[in-house]
Amino acid sequence: MYAKSVALAASLIAAPLLAQDDTPAIAPDRQAWLDTCEDWDEWDKPAPPYRIHGETYYVGTCGISVILVVKGDDLFLFDSGTEPGSHVVTDNITALGYDIADVKALFVSHEHFDHVGGMARLQELSGAAIYAGWGASPVIRSGKPDPRDPQAGTLPDMTPVPGSVRSVRGGEWDAERPAPFVPTMTPGHTIGALSWHWVSCDTEHCYSIVYADSLSPVSDDDYLFSDHPELIAEYRAGLERLAALDCEILLTPHPSASNMLDRLSGAEPWVDAGGCKAYAAAIGKRLDARLAKEAESGDGG
Ligand SMILES: [Zn+2]
Repeated sequence: MYAKSVALAASLIAAPLLAQDDTPAIAPDRQAWLDTCEDWDEWDKPAPPYRIHGETYYVGTCGISVILVVKGDDLFLFDSGTEPGSHVVTDNITALGYDIADVKALFVSHEHFDHVGGMARLQELSGAAIYAGWGASPVIRSGKPDPRDPQAGTLPDMTPVPGSVRSVRGGEWDAERPAPFVPTMTPGHTIGALSWHWVSCDTEHCYSIVYADSLSPVSDDDYLFSDHPELIAEYRAGLERLAALDCEILLTPHPSASNMLDRLSGAEPWVDAGGCKAYAAAIGKRLDARLAKEAESGDGG
């Protein structure tokens, strides 16, 4: 009891000192993002760009991530946002002093319109090839949802992509990849979902950045994950691969899925070697809960 009160008193005295002396200042570009965006914000709401680390930038909207990586004169983009959201992306690239015409490759997390609905427009502006999971490429080319997608019945069509869409799968990718970005197949939320990682360096540090795909087990009303044991097996294998990645800065297609606001404000650590492991574990629990619920309804019906 005594020790507790002493600790409490000490923390009360220390708090203002910490705030003045030890709390790192939030960079102005991050503060601007925090001032503009809320948790699980609207998909097309304009957000200012901010530096993630080194030459990796956030150029998406408040609700949908789009990541820009600069390597010398070449630019690389992960996802496009929705078609209207892609205008925020191109405005942000311009605001950072770069040109969409210098984008050399467009990478895809998963084949849903909130993340790739603007790909046709970004490809037209950049002339770059799109790199997507083997299961995602046909959806991106045609603009039509995959009937095997757990959310197939609720997904709108997208603008078809007439230019080059390359499928990422094993050796094909290794031979062709235009930059040191490494894909990991993480299916489940969709058939063709990919997570990506790369190393970002500035003058002080090199960090492994992981853009871990959306992995939530959500679906149409009439879809049962338990009817698709092969997808569940791949889902779990993908979670294991994700948990095993060297992962220091975790990014996700929906910023709030990786607690972006709390991490930008300093309430949670920005660099966290356990980030992917925790993310994969949380998704694994959601999948277990979903399968348990399906089993329960099955028994009842
Ligand atoms: Zn999705």
